[in-house]
Amino acid sequence: MPTCLITATNRGIGFELARAALSDGWKVYGSVRSESAARQSAEQLGINKDYVPVVFDVTDHSALHAAARKLDDRLELLINNAGIITPERQTPLDMDFAGFLRTLEVNTLAPLAVSQAFLPHLRRSDAARILTISSQMSWMGYRKADTLAYRASKAAVNKVMQGLATDLEREGIPVALIDPGWVRTSMGGPAADNCPSEVAAGILNVARSLELADTGKFFKWTGEERPF
Ligand code: NDP
Repeated sequence: MPTCLITATNRGIGFELARAALSDGWKVYGSVRSESAARQSAEQLGINKDYVPVVFDVTDHSALHAAARKLDDRLELLINNAGIITPERQTPLDMDFAGFLRTLEVNTLAPLAVSQAFLPHLRRSDAARILTISSQMSWMGYRKADTLAYRASKAAVNKVMQGLATDLEREGIPVALIDPGWVRTSMGGPAADNCPSEVAAGILNVARSLELADTGKFFKWTGEERPF
């Protein structure tokens, strides 16, 4: 049975990714931030013995390394999904700098920290891969100034993952980025274009077919490669 770790499986895209992976025959370790979220996600995912919630905040490096040390399994796939779109004030001329730093911690630094912590588990598999959820809002072609902290954090995670891809290429572990489109979650809001279950199925398809030739690339959830 293939095994994956998905961050933030208690709601939104992460929850649907866990559901899609379970129904596709994966064993799923899902990171959540509290015991109550662990219980709730397990209940909603049908108390499936193939779903194992793991409690850590992705920005708490000691907690995530402790969780990694406790996990005695190999991983075929890591999906870095946890993310935030705060702070409220995030335009170039009105920036909440503390909020900007927090966004960088969650969206940019944490995917690298989680990848490092669980690399030993990925190395145990001969078909391991890492997929990080970025955003079309990272695209350098947009000159938009709104939600700047979020845009910058996703542009930065693209660069971080490109670097990780280069370093892990010699180990045969592909690392790629994915744009989920605009999705109806609490982040995307009710007017968004796409339903989370459809997007999750698309992301899982991309994850399943990732090869070393894809390393360092940025894909749309529908599978096409997209520009950075
Ligand atoms: P949601 O706001 O619905 O869910 C965010 C998830 O991230 C929650 O499970 C939340 O946990 C978790 N999370 C937030 N901070 C942390 C943290 N410090 N440690 C661990 N988990 C954390 O967002 P979506 O599902 O829409 O987004 C998922 C990913 O997709 C994000 O990376 C987002 O940037 C990206 N994305 C989403 C788009 C959209 O339209 N929805 C568009 C483009 C990209 P908790 O419940 O504990 O807060």
